[in-house]
Amino acid sequence: MASSKKQQFIRDAEQIAFNEQHRKTIQFNMGKYHTAVGLGKLRYANLDAARTKASEIKRHTLAHLPEYLEEFERNFTKNGGTVLWANTADDAIRYITEILQKHAVRSIVKSKSMTTEEIELNHELERIGIESVETDLGEYIVQLAGEKPYHIVTPAMHKSKQDVAQLFHEKFGFPLTSTAEEMTNLARQKLREKYLAAGAGITGANFIIADKGGICVTENEGNAIMSTAFPDIHIAIAGIEKVLPSYADLALFWPHLAQHGTGQAISSYNTLFTGPRKESEPHGPSQMYVILLDNGRTNLYAQEKLQVALSCIRCGACLNACPIYKNVGGYTYNTTYQGPIGTVISPHLGSFEEHVHLNTACSLCANCTEVCPVKIPLHELIHENRVRAVSQNYFPLTEQIGMKAFAFAASKASRIDAVGGNLKNFVANLLGTKLWGNKREFPKFAKQSFRSQYKKRRNK
Ligand code: SF4
Repeated sequence: MASSKKQQFIRDAEQIAFNEQHRKTIQFNMGKYHTAVGLGKLRYANLDAARTKASEIKRHTLAHLPEYLEEFERNFTKNGGTVLWANTADDAIRYITEILQKHAVRSIVKSKSMTTEEIELNHELERIGIESVETDLGEYIVQLAGEKPYHIVTPAMHKSKQDVAQLFHEKFGFPLTSTAEEMTNLARQKLREKYLAAGAGITGANFIIADKGGICVTENEGNAIMSTAFPDIHIAIAGIEKVLPSYADLALFWPHLAQHGTGQAISSYNTLFTGPRKESEPHGPSQMYVILLDNGRTNLYAQEKLQVALSCIRCGACLNACPIYKNVGGYTYNTTYQGPIGTVISPHLGSFEEHVHLNTACSLCANCTEVCPVKIPLHELIHENRVRAVSQNYFPLTEQIGMKAFAFAASKASRIDAVGGNLKNFVANLLGTKLWGNKREFPKFAKQSFRSQYKKRRNK
C-alpha cells in the first residue's frame, strides 16, 4: 500500500508537472495571490516582530494545551453550548450523525472547513441520506465537480473562469459566455434555497478562544454567518490545536491570517460564536455543539521536535511558496492537507508508512519556512521526517544500498575520479528515467574529471 501510494505520487507528479494548461491556471491564480500578499506585507511596520509574537503565543498555547482546552470547555458550557471530544474521525462522524438524526435533520449547509474534509463528512452524510451542501463558492464549485479541495485556502485554484463556466453549463444549463459575476449570482440564488431548507449548519473554526468560550470563523462571503443564522442547530468541528488563550489575541491573529492567506488587511467577515442564542435573543441557533477533534494530533503533540507543526493557522502561504506544490499541484499529494505543512503532518495524522514518501518531494529550499506567519521551521521538520524514515528502514533495500554506495563514493573526490566519464555515463543511461524522469536528459559527465583536466592544464 505504502509503495503503491508512492508510485501513484510519482506517476501523477510526472503527468501534471508537464500539463501546460494546469501550469497556466496555477501561475495566473498564484500570481494574483503573490501580488496581493506582497502589497499587504507593506502594511506591517515590522512583519518579523508580528511573526515572532504570533509564534510565541502559539508555542505558549501548545505548552499549556490541555489547560486551555479545558478552560474553553468550561466557558463554552457556561454559555449554554455542548463540547464533545472526538479521538478519531469516526468519533466525530458518530457525534454529528447522532445529533442530526436526533433532530430529524435531512439537509445541512456547511461553510469551508478542512477539518470536515479530514473526516470526509460530506461522503459520510451522503451515505446516510443527509444532503450536505458546501456554501463557500470555491468549495461549492469543487463539490459540483465531484472533486476535493485543491488547496487549503483556495479550493478551486486549479480552475479557470472558463472551467467554471463549463461546469455551470453542464450542471445548470447556464450560458458558456457567463461572466464571473453572473455565475456568482447564480450560486447565490441556489444556495439561498439551501440555507432556508437546512436543519443544521456545520462550520469549522479558525480559532478556539479559551477565555470567552467561543469559536472564530473568518471568511469573505458571509456564507458561514448564513449557515449558522438560519438553521436551528450549529455544529462546529475544530482541531484541538486551534485554541488561543484570549480574545485579545485576535487583534494579531485575525489580520495576520488574512494577510498570509489572501493579502487582505482583514477578511470581510469575522465572527466569534459563543454558544446558542440566549432567551433574550430572537435569532440564531437554539443549540450549538463544538466537536474537538484529535485524530492523530496528540501523536504529533507527543513528539518534541515535531510538536511545533501544531502551531499552524492554515493560511496556505507555505503551499503558495513551494516550488514542488506549484509544479505537481494539490491533488498529487492525495492528502487532506497538501504542500509543506501537509508533508510534515500527514505521516503523523495518518499512517507514517503511507505518507512519508511525500517528504522526499522537497528540495529543502526553505521558502516555506521563510513565509510562515507563525515561524514553523517546515523544512527542518521535513528533514526530521526523512531522518526517521531512514532510521526506521522505510525506504526499499535497493534505494538504501544505492544511497550508501553513493555516500561512500561521493565523500571523497578521489573515489569519484577513479571512475571515468564513459562509465559514469553508461550507469546514468542504465538508470535512465529512474534518475531523472522521462521528460529530461540526464546531463553528460565529462570524459575526464575536473581535477585531472586542471592538473593537465597547469602542467602545460
Ligand atoms: S505551516 Fe505556516 S505557512 Fe503553512 S499553512 Fe501553516 S501557518 Fe501557513
